[in-house]
Amino acid sequence: MKKKIGFIGLGIMGKPMAKNLLKAEFSIVAYDLNKDAVEDLVKAGALAARSSKEAAGRADVIITMLPDSPDVKEVILGKDGVMEGVKPGSIVIDMSSINPLVSQEIEKELRKKGVEMLDAPVSGGETGAIQGTLAIMVGGEEKVFKDCLDIFNAVGKNIVRVGGIGAGGFVKLVNQIIVAMNIAAVGEAFTLGAKAGLDPQVIHQAIRGGLAGSQVLEAKAPMIFGRNFKPGFKIKLHHKDLQNALSTAKDLGVPLPLSSFVQQIFLSLMTEGRGEEDHSALATFFEKMAKVEIKSK
Ligand code: NAD
Repeated sequence: MKKKIGFIGLGIMGKPMAKNLLKAEFSIVAYDLNKDAVEDLVKAGALAARSSKEAAGRADVIITMLPDSPDVKEVILGKDGVMEGVKPGSIVIDMSSINPLVSQEIEKELRKKGVEMLDAPVSGGETGAIQGTLAIMVGGEEKVFKDCLDIFNAVGKNIVRVGGIGAGGFVKLVNQIIVAMNIAAVGEAFTLGAKAGLDPQVIHQAIRGGLAGSQVLEAKAPMIFGRNFKPGFKIKLHHKDLQNALSTAKDLGVPLPLSSFVQQIFLSLMTEGRGEEDHSALATFFEKMAKVEIKSK
């Protein structure tokens, strides 16, 4: 029989992922603080829960897709949380991007109740979530990973078990550093091109097939040229990822000078009240210094 899934966190990523699970004929019990999001999923065929505790109690597998470590901790270990309702033998899959040390801490608590856990952050953005083509990096026991492959296959394409609990989160931090540095490089470089009076579309056309070409360039350059900073992936969430990278790196004795710089740029944009914009708006930091816009002609 198909597993019953409790799905908690129906935002930009969680909602389309849950819809893909419904399409793959899993039954879903959904919960989010945002009632409209739950309502939308009920229209697509899910059942509604009134708390994380209730969603967990009515499911075999509980998926969380929440913003940050404190949210996941609250939803799993807090009042009316997963831990209070979950049945022994269930599996919790946290697909949010959080501090991997927190994943390890939560797994220890769940284990006391006979509950297994995987940390399984994703990459591929809103488009990947809608199309069911997410890359998924999974930490946890092999046996549990294999048991959940039917679920992962319904939401993703490139699914790799990368190690024990927390390993998924570390790989995601590696991913997020690379993406942030790429966007910063695109912003800085195209600012130079724009100030030289060139059309950014023409620059893009000229360089996309060479070594400077990248998925970041393909996905984010058109947003910058079109001045469309609707998220996508929010600046405040990418700031959070770099924060988690810096704090885990500090414990491991790894300096991250570039990440630290770009994290401060994200912070300056958040201070301007732009934390809800797409992370491609990072380019505007460089534009402002040069007093130019990277705009399609
Ligand atoms: P989002 O802000 O759009 O969605 C988060 C959802 O969690 C919201 O609907 C919110 O109401 C809900 N929520 C928050 N606290 C809750 C609680 N205590 N109980 C129940 N629901 C709660 O964020 P998102 O873009 O969907 O990102 C989710 C996670 O996925 C983040 O960790 C993010 O870093 C990661 N991620 C995002 C993207 C992207 O492109 N958006 C890509 C890969 C990974």
